[in-house]
Amino acid sequence: MSVSPSPTVSSPEGAHSGLKDLRKLSKAHLHLHFTGSMSVDLLREMSASHDISLNKELLDSEPLRVPANRRGWFRFQRLYDMARRCVQTEQDMREIVDEAARLDASEGSKILEIQVTPDSYAKIMGGLTPALEVILDEARQASQRHHIAVGVIVAAARTHHPLEAKTLARLAAQYAGDEPGTVVGFGLSNDERSGNTADFFPAFRIAAKAGLPLMPHAGELLGPEHIDEVLSNVHPRRIGHGVRAAEDPQLLRRIVEQKVTLEVCPASNVGLGVYANKAEVPLRKLFDAGAHIALGADDPLLFGERLEAQYEDARSVHGFSDDELATLARYSIEGSVMAQRYRDAALSEVDVWRDCR
Ligand SMILES: [Zn+2]
Repeated sequence: MSVSPSPTVSSPEGAHSGLKDLRKLSKAHLHLHFTGSMSVDLLREMSASHDISLNKELLDSEPLRVPANRRGWFRFQRLYDMARRCVQTEQDMREIVDEAARLDASEGSKILEIQVTPDSYAKIMGGLTPALEVILDEARQASQRHHIAVGVIVAAARTHHPLEAKTLARLAAQYAGDEPGTVVGFGLSNDERSGNTADFFPAFRIAAKAGLPLMPHAGELLGPEHIDEVLSNVHPRRIGHGVRAAEDPQLLRRIVEQKVTLEVCPASNVGLGVYANKAEVPLRKLFDAGAHIALGADDPLLFGERLEAQYEDARSVHGFSDDELATLARYSIEGSVMAQRYRDAALSEVDVWRDCR
């Protein structure tokens, strides 16, 4: 199927600042998790409809804005699990995908590759296959509704048994494609420090054999050695995060040479306490080394910022010029694994934004 063309860029000027409007910069969003994509409003509605009372931390829009020494994975996972308990029906699942597509499109995203671990929702739908199918179906419909190409990345959780990852890889393979509403890639998510990455290599081999591009998380909570392990054994198209490649110049050079896109999510890095503040995220260092970076929001529900804010921060915190921001947008689109025509259309709009005075 095809997605109808998105509205053209009409006014590249920011409404108040005199700076070019980053919402109008065409981009791709390659690192966004299903439950974590929700807005606080949607979570609030969902919890009310199921009569679930939520910890107020989840509803104050700043659940992880606590002093750096109180941040960390445990706090994140506890809140994420709480949010996930509010997802109880097929309609809830559809609303999450629809909202993610709508909000992304409103921020200039032309391609969204949303990441899901279907095991978490199998109970709702009565099995893994229907859980994935409902997400794919809604991704296809939301693509048309919101003028954005939405593909799905199936991600195994490293906190689950590696055999489950193999099951997921086989399932993902059945729906492999590069169109909206298909499985466009296979990943590995959750706490990077748990499980043994090598135990998941067989699942990656199954996905690769089915032609699925691979995009495991690595190099956020663990350092360069984990990125090295993944690069050497999994041969990923992209790395979820990979931001700590900045600590190892030789590794960074390999990433650049191999043109592996890093899905850098600065708000996540700060929210999880990997860096004390936004200025410490080594975005400039990675960019100047030539790394292809696709900025992502990871879990806006918990980190408090969506996609556009990552570009705003690149500008205001790291001093990226409009040309450099256009390059970041270009990298995100080139890093997408969806069909070439979606990438070409999005890239041509980057040029329009960049060249507009
Ligand atoms: Zn992630």
